[in-house]
Amino acid sequence: MVNKLLKSNLIAIVFALFGVSAPLSAAEVQVQGTALEANGNGLVFSLVFSEKTPFSVYTLDNPRRLLVDLGETSLENMPSGLAAGLPQVSALRYGLFQHGQSRIVLDLSSPLVVKSAAASEPSGGGLRLTIELSPTSPEAYATASAPDQGALWRAEQLAPEIEGEAGLPIIAIDAGHGGLDFGARQEGTHEKDIVLQVARTLRDLLIEDGRFRVVLTRDADTYIPLGERVEIARRAGARAFISLHADVVTRGRARGTTVFSLSEAEESQQAVTIATLENRSDLVAGISVEGEDDQLTQVLLQLAHRETDALSNRFADTMAEALWHHNEDEIKSRRMAGGFRVLRAPDIPSVLIELGFMSDETDLELLQDTEWQLAMAENLRDGLSRWLQVEDDMRGLLRN
Ligand SMILES: [Zn+2]
Repeated sequence: MVNKLLKSNLIAIVFALFGVSAPLSAAEVQVQGTALEANGNGLVFSLVFSEKTPFSVYTLDNPRRLLVDLGETSLENMPSGLAAGLPQVSALRYGLFQHGQSRIVLDLSSPLVVKSAAASEPSGGGLRLTIELSPTSPEAYATASAPDQGALWRAEQLAPEIEGEAGLPIIAIDAGHGGLDFGARQEGTHEKDIVLQVARTLRDLLIEDGRFRVVLTRDADTYIPLGERVEIARRAGARAFISLHADVVTRGRARGTTVFSLSEAEESQQAVTIATLENRSDLVAGISVEGEDDQLTQVLLQLAHRETDALSNRFADTMAEALWHHNEDEIKSRRMAGGFRVLRAPDIPSVLIELGFMSDETDLELLQDTEWQLAMAENLRDGLSRWLQVEDDMRGLLRN
């Protein structure tokens, strides 16, 4: 049964993906009230939204500005003269920043840092966001506004819990999405739940196998920012990083399993589309990692990547092979490269696996089938074993 299921699933991803449109969510969140007032030399900026929306609040330098990133929000009701008469603010801009994310920008005429950004629930429901800005020195402003300061709202730094016998190589397993980021949704089924189930099953298999240790980036329904997932793997000293997902396409048909590795250079259109969906994750949770000012980071990452790319590609090839192992007669899982933020650990070979497509009826059924999940996890374990073997052999060769 399982083999038959696998056979039908691991056939070609029928990529009519080219016209994939962005996901379907329309902005339902409305801004219902705003106030911007002087508070001594500082400012208080309050916003009331009709629904709870993820947010992040931070400042950037050159030019000095406050950014309020929100889930997709209709900002048409923002009064135009909000900043009038306030010497601290030279301009107020807002709009849809990119799909799924709206942004409000206050251009600051003097250095003001975020003292607090508090969320509360008004009596009628929704969300009230109160941001307090206080004056500071240009130096302190610059420090507080460095791009890598990130958003004020961040998941806690968790000490990674590593399971398995000391000394064994560590595999970081990343169940995509989580918490308020559901990932793909289809007929009441959420990507975040499916991938967590497979991640746990894979962990159990790897521990049982006795050749691995495992760290999960999340073992609960919680949101972890993409950068933090990579950090967990790095702090644990992981040998490899494997991120699990199950996507949807909104147009065309796609089925089967896809293995992705990172590539800045040779992204296919399909990979770009899927990467865009997966990278939305942080935006959904209200975290803006990728400021406009991180070109330097990009360059450094690319440099660091050249070496890891070869490792990651070998890793991805081995995993893709393992996944079409049970399916000899047709085109199998796909192997692609894309700009996934979660794959940007410069020093750990990393792959992202779309286990299947929740937009496909058959895939959706399989993805929820515990027997199928187990078979998938077994294939992943076999791939990891083979990869580890090859890597260790190569290390041996290098030594000789
Ligand atoms: Zn995903």
